Amino acid sequence: MIFDPQHRKESRSARISMALIRLSLAMKKMMQAESEALELSPIQIQTLLFAAYTRNDVATVGNFAKAIGTTHVTAVKVIQGLVRKGLIVKTPKPEDRRVTLLELTSKGKELVSKLEHWGGSLEESLQSMSEKMMANFELGLGSILSSLEKRGHLVVAEPCLGCIHFRPNVGDAATPHYCQMIRKHLSHEASLQECPEHTPSPAD
Ligand code: SF4
Repeated sequence: MIFDPQHRKESRSARISMALIRLSLAMKKMMQAESEALELSPIQIQTLLFAAYTRNDVATVGNFAKAIGTTHVTAVKVIQGLVRKGLIVKTPKPEDRRVTLLELTSKGKELVSKLEHWGGSLEESLQSMSEKMMANFELGLGSILSSLEKRGHLVVAEPCLGCIHFRPNVGDAATPHYCQMIRKHLSHEASLQECPEHTPSPAD
């Protein structure tokens, strides 16, 4: 097992697994410190970022719960806290009123605009790596994330470009792109938002 140092000596995958666990602990600590400065918790900030960067028709409570790997009940509690602070509003989805959409209020948008440097400590810690090292690291991490996603441990939301369902520039000026999965034309702005259904095309 990966917590056994003798096993780690003999196994590269165990060493990498342990490094990832240590990394996640360090990230948790860094994000806690950065969030405290804004008088919010890391999960509250993640909620605001989810509402800011997810395409509005899929910015649902359910997708938020999946994105952060928590239960619907926990997600609702976090969201309620932000509703009370006047940072988020909940609205029923016009096509299906049982589904709740999350939207930032103007106060929420103002706060998100101040989050430019949130998570910056992590990015800074990568600066000492060479471009080649970073490219290899990115490939390796991508492969781990994809494997975790296939096993249902993670949801990776990305914009439309590079998605297997994306058909760019096939519509009119207002909604130039098309998604074959949801069978809808999309505005360019909507295609730049994160979508939890993003499925990377094989070439990616
Ligand atoms: S499934 Fe793919 S193409 Fe469709 S909206 Fe999501 S990211 Fe865009």
